[in-house]
Amino acid sequence: MTNITPPFSTPAASAAGRSFNELPLSPGILATLQQLEYLTMTPIQAASLPLVLAGQDLIAQAKTGSGKTAAFALALLTRLNPRRFAVQAMVLCPTRELADQVTQEIRRLARSEDNIKIVALCGGTPMRPQINSLEHGAHIVVGTPGRIIDHLGRGSLNLEALNTLVLDEADRMLDMGFYDDIAYVAERCPADRQTLLFSATFPDGIARLARHFLRNPQEVKLPEQHEAGKIRQRFYEVRNEERLEAVGMLLRHFRPVSTLAFCNTKQQCRDLLEVLHAQGFHALTLHGDLEQRERDQVLIQFANRSCSVLVATDLAARGLDIAQLEAVINVDVTPDPEIYIHRIGRTGRADEAGWALSLCGHADKRRVAGIAQMTGSEPEWHDIDELQGERGAPLVPPMVTLQILGGRKDKIRPGDVLGALTGEAGFTREQVGKITVTEQFTYVAVARNIAREAVRKLSAGKVKGKTVKVRALED
Ligand code: ADP
Ligand code: MG
Repeated sequence: MTNITPPFSTPAASAAGRSFNELPLSPGILATLQQLEYLTMTPIQAASLPLVLAGQDLIAQAKTGSGKTAAFALALLTRLNPRRFAVQAMVLCPTRELADQVTQEIRRLARSEDNIKIVALCGGTPMRPQINSLEHGAHIVVGTPGRIIDHLGRGSLNLEALNTLVLDEADRMLDMGFYDDIAYVAERCPADRQTLLFSATFPDGIARLARHFLRNPQEVKLPEQHEAGKIRQRFYEVRNEERLEAVGMLLRHFRPVSTLAFCNTKQQCRDLLEVLHAQGFHALTLHGDLEQRERDQVLIQFANRSCSVLVATDLAARGLDIAQLEAVINVDVTPDPEIYIHRIGRTGRADEAGWALSLCGHADKRRVAGIAQMTGSEPEWHDIDELQGERGAPLVPPMVTLQILGGRKDKIRPGDVLGALTGEAGFTREQVGKITVTEQFTYVAVARNIAREAVRKLSAGKVKGKTVKVRALED
């Protein structure tokens, strides 16, 4: 096995960022990459694409947000024959929202080829439309193991023509107990396929997966290292009974627009949410007991900046691609320094600096020592009393999410909603934020000060020639 370990995300690495043009990619894909402003390869792409395009099996480890999706998407699109109406590539993902993110990214990258069909096969949505899509000939399927097994069982998914199998977020699939399901699916794929395994961390089960389902895999690891100075880490010692209150103090003091607050348990997530709501924060939580639609709504509201704080366990937050995050709060210090590094790596992306704020009980101090050893930095201790929180104005997210009853099934597209808001309703482009269209609903973020008027005008006017029901998602 080859081990390629270039430095991750250091200025040197980005300066050395290589162009996609040096890869054997089609002119259409190269043009798409230009349009998407993917100007240079990310380190994991630069390390893995030459290997995967050469047909090698691969184990790739790199942190969340490092561009792993394109690393496999470009490979499978390159091998795809659009004229052959059969499933040629399959991506297994742990959850529906990760499968949706991957589906969207592949669709974006495939847009120069207008006849490539990508079908998402996930639980929580009816089987029938998926079966119909498969009958009409899909080239690529992206889905969760359980639902893919259902389709295999019914004979609605045929894998005879499959040439690429991707296990995305493999560590998380193992965490969720999918080993046997992955094995079941992999055993039903043609033996002479290419298998690519992507993972953010490297627990033991990964080696076992690789041994059984990959052939002579190349290994690419980009150990997580954060750019010095971009993530400002602070540790606060708190008594247990003041821990949850302290989260609010940090928020009012640092005033981040978007914060991910990590708890070690689901119960702590619930408790913290209650405390934050009582203090007037716009906070939401992500946990396994939510229905799929609720999960979608939580993620959409957080990503479009209409929710200040997302409270989550490591499991619930793993793999989610949230671009702008001003702060990560460790409500508890995790016993595993690797998890700490992974958590705080969510902030301080791209050109933004970010805060990593940790609340430590007296007993957690040993854990902080472990983290300091691993990161090779001296922990910066601060006193909770120095926080100016109490007097600050309440923290209010800049946007509000409006939910429109009607989505992809009604052929609504983001442009229709933007058009309705900036056209007849008379709002400016700047007052409208992210627009997300799901099967049933469309979500649009609008500036908080116009939210009420926007609901009124959208309800009175038309979207795509039809009257629509609209409401603001505010609690
Ligand atoms: P991962 O799977 O490693 O968590 P993603 O594939 O979700 O990461 O990519 C994270 C973000 O980076 C996405 O928004 C994606 O569009 C963007 N991205 C990926 N590759 C590039 C690139 N070469 N240049 C610029 N942006 C990129
Ligand atoms: Mg990913």
